[in-house]
Amino acid sequence: MATWLAWQADPQRPTMLHYVGHISLEDYEQYFSKPSLSTSDQYQALHKAASDRARGIHRLLLEKGQISLTLCIGDSKAFFADHHLFADTLWVDALPLDWDKWTAKALARLCRRGATLIAHVPEGPNAAWLQEAGFVQIAATPTSNALRATFDPPWKLGAKEPPVAKLRSSSTSHCCVVGAGISGASVAYALARRGWRVTVLDKAAHPAGGASGLPAGLVVPHISADDSPRSRLSRVGARLMLQHAEELLSHGADWAMSGVLEHRFSEGPDRSHTHAGWIKPRALVGAWLAHPCITVRYGADVHHLEHQDTTWSLLDAAGDKLLDADMVVFANAYGARAMLSASEMALHRAATLPLTLGDLQAVHGTASLGTVLKDVARAWGTLPHNGNGCFISIQQRGDTSFWLAGSSFEPDAEPTAATMGLHRIAPLSEQHANNLARLHVLLPEVGETLTPQFRGGGPDSWSGTRCVTHDRLPLAGPVDAQGRNGLWMQVGMGARGLTFSALGAELIAARICGEPWPVESSLARSMDSQRRRKRRALREVESDNT
Ligand SMILES: Cc1cc2nc3c(=O)[nH]c(=O)nc-3n(C[C@H](O)[C@H](O)[C@H](O)COP(=O)(O)OP(=O)(O)OC[C@H]3O[C@@H](n4cnc5c(N)ncnc54)[C@H](O)[C@@H]3O)c2cc1C
Repeated sequence: MATWLAWQADPQRPTMLHYVGHISLEDYEQYFSKPSLSTSDQYQALHKAASDRARGIHRLLLEKGQISLTLCIGDSKAFFADHHLFADTLWVDALPLDWDKWTAKALARLCRRGATLIAHVPEGPNAAWLQEAGFVQIAATPTSNALRATFDPPWKLGAKEPPVAKLRSSSTSHCCVVGAGISGASVAYALARRGWRVTVLDKAAHPAGGASGLPAGLVVPHISADDSPRSRLSRVGARLMLQHAEELLSHGADWAMSGVLEHRFSEGPDRSHTHAGWIKPRALVGAWLAHPCITVRYGADVHHLEHQDTTWSLLDAAGDKLLDADMVVFANAYGARAMLSASEMALHRAATLPLTLGDLQAVHGTASLGTVLKDVARAWGTLPHNGNGCFISIQQRGDTSFWLAGSSFEPDAEPTAATMGLHRIAPLSEQHANNLARLHVLLPEVGETLTPQFRGGGPDSWSGTRCVTHDRLPLAGPVDAQGRNGLWMQVGMGARGLTFSALGAELIAARICGEPWPVESSLARSMDSQRRRKRRALREVESDNT
């Protein structure tokens, strides 16, 4: 809290403040499980954002996203081993650390060169341990019972330097994001908040021209018995997405923290998700793209890239240049696959070993939509349901109320440019029938009430194409192994783009700018664009050894 206030009071404060706080589970429960005692705005905001969190790393955005708090709940030593950050100040207060030389080395791994360590512990570190770990100028502070040291080891720290921040300065660099859906807009916004100039190109005539044009969708964590990486990422991602919605959208009109009831049928009792809700993705895309550092160009269909010196040129199918940029982020869902293969020569010239994205799958879906009639609105309530398809009833003043039931899943192995987003394997009537059948199982009474609306021409519909990866997790990271060539991607959001995109964007921005990662390194690797290639390489080494 003191750092927050000092940052606020400083007229020359940096654009963003990154603060990583470790707290034991016991202390977390003591501070955050009860209502906030302080009435200060800052404390209330912190308490609200931090409450009801599980053990693990969480990204909290405060002060309109200008303060990024990475809250690590649980055992400190576990985080030292599994958190990627390059701190410039380390403040070790009442951490229950058993100091030994390994603790000193673990702390050293979190420091960038020149970082200051202030250790405020009665049984503090031994100077010899700190020295061995690379700390110098070790001295007791005159006013408090603390020890101060600077991390400046005599050895080279090559691998510790952030790869891209070293090469580029955000204030002068220009990034192009291809795709104005929820993936592209979230990355553009994350970079713009950090001072980058961003141009977003999209072939559509308006924002959210692809799957993100969905009238409304659910933001809800995925739950699994073994708390898989997908579940843990979805928990952090959903909270982050809802923070953005709260910050930028109008509650009740464009989103609602309604909670979601997950029906589990024979698998167990229904599950109530509190930190969940519905959102109109197009509204959030619009709000993100309205950032003053972002320019958007519609009707810009990027066909391939060329590379000269450190600049990437984006060209259309006729070979006309659309834009030059220092860095490019592919956020054009399934379209990234064709763009990467059309850019193969340029990528090889830039010494980039490109991903082929051959295993991305396009999965079409249709949602059924209709009007909420006044006499049933109260009986339905406003709580969305999922578990066998989903049902959302958005009840608003005027004539903007609607219900949404869906959605169908129709894999299409090889969509062409002409069929993307329009192709339907089954006739629309069949897709509505599937949605209604699922609704009868999910909420039989609502299904009965809506059956007449499905007769005749059927209800309204909205169709889109999901871009799905082999393990149902997005590809968020560099196009080549380390991102040194300035090519990044955020694609493959599947059926959970509203839950994963803000988290993927924070992770990409953190990697580009050399900031603390928003989740554990091991968890971030589950979303990494290179994960399949790395696993394949590991398997090859293992099979060579057997
Ligand atoms: C029926 C249905 C229901 C869904 N329900 C939910 C839900 O409840 N919750 C949830 O989390 N998710 C849901 N999803 C999934 C969600 O919509 C997607 O995960 C998300 O919108 C993907 O966002 P995106 O930005 O990655 O892709 P898109 O929104 O498809 O954006 C890609 C953009 O790239 C542009 N583009 C493509 N190629 C080029 C090119 N060469 N040059 C320039 N621009 C290009 C496109 O025009 C498009 O605007 C649903 C999807 C469907 C289809």
